[in-house]
Amino acid sequence: PDNLQSPWGSAAPAAPACSLADVMSEQLATQLDEENNAFPALTEYASETTSDLMLAKMLQMQFDREFDDQLRREEKKFNGESKVSISFENYRMVHPYEDSDSSEDEVDWQDTRHDPYKADKPQTTPRRGFTGKGKNITTKHDAETCGRKNTARMDNFAPEVHVGDGLGMDLKLSNQVFNSLKQHCYSEQRRSARLHEKKEHSTAEQAVDPRTRLLMYKMVNAGVLENINGCISTGKESVVFHADGGSLEEQPVPDEVVLKVFKTTLNEFKNRDRYIKDDYRFKERFSKLNPRKVIRLWAEKEMHNLARMKKAEIPCPEVVLLKKHILVMSFIGKDHVPAPKLKDVVLNSEDMKNAFYQVLHLMQLMYQECNLVHADLSEYNMLWHEGKVWLIDVSQSIEPTHPHGLEFLFRDCRNVSTFFQKRGVSEAMSVYELFNAVSGLNIPVGAEEEAEFMAEIVALEKRNEDHVQKRGKKTFPVTCEDGDPPLKPDADD
Ligand code: ADP
Ligand code: MG
Repeated sequence: PDNLQSPWGSAAPAAPACSLADVMSEQLATQLDEENNAFPALTEYASETTSDLMLAKMLQMQFDREFDDQLRREEKKFNGESKVSISFENYRMVHPYEDSDSSEDEVDWQDTRHDPYKADKPQTTPRRGFTGKGKNITTKHDAETCGRKNTARMDNFAPEVHVGDGLGMDLKLSNQVFNSLKQHCYSEQRRSARLHEKKEHSTAEQAVDPRTRLLMYKMVNAGVLENINGCISTGKESVVFHADGGSLEEQPVPDEVVLKVFKTTLNEFKNRDRYIKDDYRFKERFSKLNPRKVIRLWAEKEMHNLARMKKAEIPCPEVVLLKKHILVMSFIGKDHVPAPKLKDVVLNSEDMKNAFYQVLHLMQLMYQECNLVHADLSEYNMLWHEGKVWLIDVSQSIEPTHPHGLEFLFRDCRNVSTFFQKRGVSEAMSVYELFNAVSGLNIPVGAEEEAEFMAEIVALEKRNEDHVQKRGKKTFPVTCEDGDPPLKPDADD
């Protein structure tokens, strides 16, 4: 250690609570080490966040942490005020913390976690609990060894706890001192958790993280919103709030709006990257972004897609404002009551038939005018409002030239066709007819129906991909008016 002026190294600035990148490089290092790979110097990896492996690992780590947080909340809820509590410790993915009753003398996870970045720790007793032979035997209960071990274990206190530079020296902590330090750590952690709880009393906003909440309050402060009323929906990928519109300088704000908050959780991200990864509009940027910014892309995509749809006069929410991962748009519904989803609304057969033809027309408009495939179209993402079908939830919508664009379109068609057939609309087309009617393609429907049809779709996609590779151009018979307006650069946080 460089700083020996004071035994606690107080002259040096306190280490920041360990950053994601640190944890990542640490994890990566451990793994590489385990695999015994002769990789180049680890520092190269540590600084390189553009590497796919790194990105993947970062996502995984964030996912693990969110998983753990969720687990902690569930654990707390499960145990409640009960004196006997069940620990979920074993299910945690990262940063396990000790139970206060764990035995002082036992070697536990702490000693098995290998950390290649730490200065060599003072020698502690090996697992079998003694070293040496005959008269010179040292057991794990030996005061000196024990003291060193305690010092080493201090390193595993919560990251917020700054334990100083004790590790670098041959510092020995008695069991008594160590235990009271440990106890202090736990009570501090609990205290800060309690404080935190009190701050978060409002129920509606519980669904989002403090950062997001702050952004939401800022919108109220700025007068864009009058008031945030409550949560309409909490999905896997987003939370939707109802709010009263305020005013914006350049444009009027509707009386009723929704805030769609894209979840910064990466739970669903893994399934979704297929949509965005191959979307040429985002390809360049995708590889360079940190996870939080990737989430913002969803909001950005939804905004652009809604704008295209509005232009084609498709009934859909109107974008009011995009702020990071929060999209403010007009509310479909009235007096705080959101329009029902198509799956929930009871319609007479005339209206149902009507709805089908509307959806067919909307799909055609979307494909031909907006150059978009919804890619998550179903009775869940269509609302019935003022006698019309409204389309929502278009963050994942992609252009037909997307490498899997036609497959997504086929899936949309299947959902639509199945839904209306189940609701007894005899006019509802089969999935194949619908697909051809929407895309303007003329894929023949043979005896082997689905398999052949699908093969044809995939072949088309492939041909298009090859074309793009060769010419750098899209080739589908769709009029593509390119160039969504670029987003104003957003201040980074
Ligand atoms: P998710 O990706 O979570 O499914 P959606 O955009 O589908 O997000 O929104 C979830 C739900 O919130 C919808 O099913 C709908 O009930 C409601 N909702 C979303 N946007 C609006 C809107 N503009 N007006 C009224 N309700 C909306
Ligand atoms: Mg939805």
